[in-house]
Amino acid sequence: MDKKTLYANIIIDISHEKLDRTFQYRIPEKLLDQIHPGTPVEIPFGRSNRKIRGYVVEVTEEPEFAPERIKPVSHVIREGIPIEGQLIALAAWMRENFGGTMNQALKTVLPVKQKTTEKEQRLIWLKPNPTTAKSLLGELQRKHQTARARLLEALLEQSPLPYETVTQKLNITASVIRAMQERELIRVESIRSWRNPLDQMKKQGTVVTLNPAQQQIVTGIENGWRSGDERPCLIHGVTGSGKTEVYMELIKSVLREGKQAIVLIPEIALTFQTVLRFYNHFGERVSILNSRMSPGERSDQFERAKRGLLDVMIGPRSALFTPFPNLGVIIIDEEHEAAYKSETVPRYHARETAIARGMLCGAHVVLGSATPSVESYDRAQQGQYRLFEMKERVSARPLPTVYTVDLREELRNGNRSILSDRLRKLMTDRLEKKEQIMLFLNRRGVAGFVSCRSCGEVIKCPHCDVSLNLHNDGNLVCHYCGYQQPMVKKCPSCGSSYVGGFKAGTQKIEQYVRQQFPSARVLRMDLDTTRKKGGYESILSAFSNQEADILIGTQMIVKGHDFPNVTLVGILAADLSLHISDYRAPERTFQLLTQAAGRAGRGCRQGEVVIQTYQPEHYSIVTAAAQDYEAFFQQEIFFREMLHYPPKWHMLVVHAASEKEMLVKQAQDMLKYKLLTKMEKEKEHLQIIGPADAAVSRINDIFRKVLYVKAEDYQLLVHAKNMLEQEIRKDPAFRAVTIQFDFDPMNG
Ligand code: ADP
Ligand code: ZN
Ligand code: ZN
Repeated sequence: MDKKTLYANIIIDISHEKLDRTFQYRIPEKLLDQIHPGTPVEIPFGRSNRKIRGYVVEVTEEPEFAPERIKPVSHVIREGIPIEGQLIALAAWMRENFGGTMNQALKTVLPVKQKTTEKEQRLIWLKPNPTTAKSLLGELQRKHQTARARLLEALLEQSPLPYETVTQKLNITASVIRAMQERELIRVESIRSWRNPLDQMKKQGTVVTLNPAQQQIVTGIENGWRSGDERPCLIHGVTGSGKTEVYMELIKSVLREGKQAIVLIPEIALTFQTVLRFYNHFGERVSILNSRMSPGERSDQFERAKRGLLDVMIGPRSALFTPFPNLGVIIIDEEHEAAYKSETVPRYHARETAIARGMLCGAHVVLGSATPSVESYDRAQQGQYRLFEMKERVSARPLPTVYTVDLREELRNGNRSILSDRLRKLMTDRLEKKEQIMLFLNRRGVAGFVSCRSCGEVIKCPHCDVSLNLHNDGNLVCHYCGYQQPMVKKCPSCGSSYVGGFKAGTQKIEQYVRQQFPSARVLRMDLDTTRKKGGYESILSAFSNQEADILIGTQMIVKGHDFPNVTLVGILAADLSLHISDYRAPERTFQLLTQAAGRAGRGCRQGEVVIQTYQPEHYSIVTAAAQDYEAFFQQEIFFREMLHYPPKWHMLVVHAASEKEMLVKQAQDMLKYKLLTKMEKEKEHLQIIGPADAAVSRINDIFRKVLYVKAEDYQLLVHAKNMLEQEIRKDPAFRAVTIQFDFDPMNG
């Protein structure tokens, strides 16, 4: 009999400024199992208790004020859950699984509503016919109602007139306009025209017909859908195997059922060419989102989707929240990309969130990649996803030939330059043949690792198997466990004193290449050269139009455009991305190398790839050179299992930051203590590591420390997070410290 009373926190206005304004109502016993986050309800509001509609955002046991003063929810609104309800339910799921507050989750999921769009236009029309209007005009003039007469006269000359012209040029006040409206002399009309990012787009090129391999995948996926198989599908298709065409075919079949589609693409790959391919198929019914749009422009795209004016939305992570009323499929291209993980709270992963949204509204999920994430491929192996393979390129174009060059050997042969003999010879050959070359430096952020140039040995943490980072104080530090040692003077493996960090950047490489090949036309693409607006596109299109022979760049160049004339790709120091202190480094390296290699030979000529490395025996490099995803995966999943990393185990990172180093330390120690004491029973299933300094332990005088909690069971970590969040809310000691949670981190 002693059922707990539950309360619902309800929002009544879904505009961004008002999301944190919730009202609490009691949930009547008979509605207890019908009310969840996202449920639309009717509630008595204000003194008059007039009935209004609201959405439940949270269900709680804690009354916000005296329980007897809390009014009950009137009833649940049943006629179909509106799209806002679905998105609120999704926000609640995100909050639970990735941490943060409900308000943060709501702000991520619900679009910023702009009150008026820039292009909203109000027009004033003359209402009576001209003869009547003329006699009314005479009447107004006789009564000396000059303002009204002025407007009527103007409208007799031209109707409609823009509202602003009337108020500003004719000096007519809003109250005069209202009065004339009431007397039915004029009619005011708002016309809203949507900003359309693709309104300059023209269909061009031909639409292809699927080849048998593509058709087989489409049929396989659709058959599963028809038979009620709700598992996500993973398409593992080599670069250039025609995945995009498969996506479009799947979208078409979803549209035939009157449903809509979302396509997630990493922003960097959302190029003109990609968009054009979708536009050719879906025309005006497709729109895009990108980070350069104004809030108003973004809001317009969401509004168009909600009103049924669009069928397909393409965009990065945030496009996932497009409020389509009847979503049929979510496609995630390049599903392995780190950009699908949000770096701000809630730190959600678009893949997991897409699957959750799919479950809430009955939409299918399709993932695609040439190099699937270890997570997804593992789930496919376990049967949680359906797996589809495309092993060949379209039109039987061969995969490129790959050579691995050992840079240690080059050094022994007296070649200290950044170009090996083989790469240099091939470059000369391509320049003669007027074919194009891409040189790729897979450098990422601050790669602070230390290695031996003679034997390739990298200095690693003895406990965590990730590389140690060289700090300014001269110490080598592990960012996972806090282990420290002084910088080595000699290589611990071969005794050479040629140890240090790798310093060459793209700029240096460009200088060197220009000097070596004076007649070649060289372009460079990195953060510096793409900073200004349109920089990225203009470099890519210049290279695409063959205005340059050589394109040098960072990971930016491995995605997006298809350059049919590129027949040589040089990867300058393949192991650079191996030694960032991150358990995903081998995976990231394999992906980058495979994607970079995939740029070669996309036209009709055979491509070649040179991988230069200090560690030719590393499995990431061996398997990338062999273009053997399966072999890489087997090796990698073995290590993940052995070292208790995702996806075999899960990881919860607790970030703490404050201006006072001491407070950060205290907070982390306290959280660790809470974990050890409050989770007494579950403790043996948890591994707690740290607290340690974060990878960048101090930014702008804010100190940052991390605590790692590992468990095989994700739900156990969710439980730990919920417990810690509660403790943090209760204890004022945490107020001066910012604490954030990150599940299965993508970066560090
Ligand atoms: P992926 O997404 O797997 O890298 P794409 O879908 O971009 O592959 O296809 C690679 C290239 O092959 C594109 O230029 C595309 O237009 C072309 N292509 C794809 N499918 C076909 C087909 N069935 N017939 C002819 N060309 C195709
Ligand atoms: Zn050595
Ligand atoms: Zn360590």
